[in-house]
Amino acid sequence: MSALATASLPADPADVLREVFGHAAFRGEQEAVVRHVVAGGDAVVLFPTGKGKSVCYQVPALCRPGVAVVVSPLIALMRNQVEALRQAGVRAAALNSALTAEESAAARSDLSAGRLDLIYVTPERLMTPGFLGILERLDIALIAIDEAHCVSQWGHDFRPEYLALGALGERFPGVPRMALTATADAQTRADIVARLGLADARIFVTSFDRPNISYAIVPRSNGMRQLRDFLAGHRGESGIVYCLSRRKVEAVAEGLAADGIRALPYHAGLDQRVRDANQDAFLKEDGLVLVATVAFGMGIDKPDIRFVAHVDLPSSIEAYYQETGRAGRDGLPAEAWMAYAMGDVAQRRRMIDEREADEAVKRVERAKLNALLGVCETIGCRRQALLAHFGESYDAPCGHCDNCVTPAETFDGTVAAQKLLSAILRSGSRFGAGHVIDILRGNETEKVRQAGHHRLPTFGVGSDVDGRVWHSIVRQLTALGIVAVDHGRFGALVPGDDYRAVLKGERAIALRRDPPRLRRTREERQAQAVAGLAPADALLFEALRAERTRLARQQGVPPYVVFHDATLREMATLRPQSLDALGDLAGIGRAKLERYGLAFLKVIRAAD
Ligand code: ADP
Ligand code: ZN
Repeated sequence: MSALATASLPADPADVLREVFGHAAFRGEQEAVVRHVVAGGDAVVLFPTGKGKSVCYQVPALCRPGVAVVVSPLIALMRNQVEALRQAGVRAAALNSALTAEESAAARSDLSAGRLDLIYVTPERLMTPGFLGILERLDIALIAIDEAHCVSQWGHDFRPEYLALGALGERFPGVPRMALTATADAQTRADIVARLGLADARIFVTSFDRPNISYAIVPRSNGMRQLRDFLAGHRGESGIVYCLSRRKVEAVAEGLAADGIRALPYHAGLDQRVRDANQDAFLKEDGLVLVATVAFGMGIDKPDIRFVAHVDLPSSIEAYYQETGRAGRDGLPAEAWMAYAMGDVAQRRRMIDEREADEAVKRVERAKLNALLGVCETIGCRRQALLAHFGESYDAPCGHCDNCVTPAETFDGTVAAQKLLSAILRSGSRFGAGHVIDILRGNETEKVRQAGHHRLPTFGVGSDVDGRVWHSIVRQLTALGIVAVDHGRFGALVPGDDYRAVLKGERAIALRRDPPRLRRTREERQAQAVAGLAPADALLFEALRAERTRLARQQGVPPYVVFHDATLREMATLRPQSLDALGDLAGIGRAKLERYGLAFLKVIRAAD
């Protein structure tokens, strides 16, 4: 039996969830998964990030006899999970290439002696004959394959080592196997089932909605200033800023640091040691902004990331959703914010063109980019648009994306579209948006004069509309397929597939009037920073965070391993006065209550 059972703790899943993990109840599908696996069934678990996949195998691991084997490719993540489990009183260890010889030996001997409830292992370690040999002599509670999408050759994270895991079913008959992932398109799902031999497994899927994340996408004008305004509402909070290039990462990180914001860069061009140190700081310190390329993020399970900002357009809706999904794992409000410009689309297109890949692959990638542009330019609810892309229908507008909060005002853009198309055609479909808009606005620039475009009949016909609005019109017409960007010609605007009906006046076009830039003052934005807490509670919350940082530093672990923000918030608002009352709060299991209860009670009492 597992440690908890022999220690005469109950092995009912709900009790384990409460006693060990401090959660009052299962969330959504968790309970169904847990009961199915505890009863010996195989499972494929498709939950978006933050819906609580770990509980799905950690609870059964403690309810079933023997050791649970968790396969993961992510060494840093393993370390954090093992640390968090140990803090909760669970006997967990990891085996991977990052351990010293002694640590490995200790983990192996604990494993062989049946002293572990969970062992985390990389796929290549697991499949060595020696390790499989040890496992065959033990009781195995279950085998959980995390990040199971890595088995799919079509996906973005394919890892060949994962293919070997298909043999586990025959090797360990009767042991329940689970595959878990946050990537759920149909192709990936089919690959997981086929390659991991899970044809008989039950499939558990939850909605991919992340209700606590609010979405906003704005046209980029002065990117750095817009980012600063956005960050002013997140002082003292942890977040990620994604940039397309390494150079931009460096520039943005420096710019923020100059503002007195603690910001560190992360990209594949940095020395490994610097990268690791910056990642570590992000995990272990409160309120740090990590400025990164997409090289950062896989396997980061920091629960209290309060915002994810994109200052460039991501590659697809899938990528955008995965990147923004790193925010708000703890269920508290989080913000996804993007600023993008039409130039990003041209740049992305060029990147696709220059890739060494089949034309078929490139076609798919271009279509994915267009789908994202559609979400960026929609006048409807962002959440509805995002979920629709994942084949999910969301009944009503969500009420807390930018388009829901400030519904778009529309205007009849038919004539503007005709003027734009005419300017594009008459200048030979060879120029980018900036130049075409100069023609429309009647700007006699050097380039306009050289090309003789000041003599075109369309010269100046759009002078009544300002440049920013023209840029918005160009983006919207591109998203609608009326105008296209010729990636082969450095972003030249060309007529899109659907332009004729517009030019002939057969199709009316409704366009969004971009709202005048919303400018809340910094004070207003800062006032929201500890959203939802009364001033006195916010003070206590900060004091509790400081205590948490102190305790985490002592042990060299990230603060959230001690307690999550959600737990500190409950402490700050409910102000429990005894250990018993403290133990009733979400996220406080028996082990953590013993370990930290008194320290936090002291802080709470000092505040009264
Ligand atoms: P995923 O791996 O699916 O992204 P995690 O397993 O990391 O998600 O869990 C996300 C967050 O939700 C964690 O902070 C975890 O403590 C919390 N959580 C999971 N299950 C529950 C539950 N039943 N009640 C409360 N919090 C939960
Ligand atoms: Zn909405």
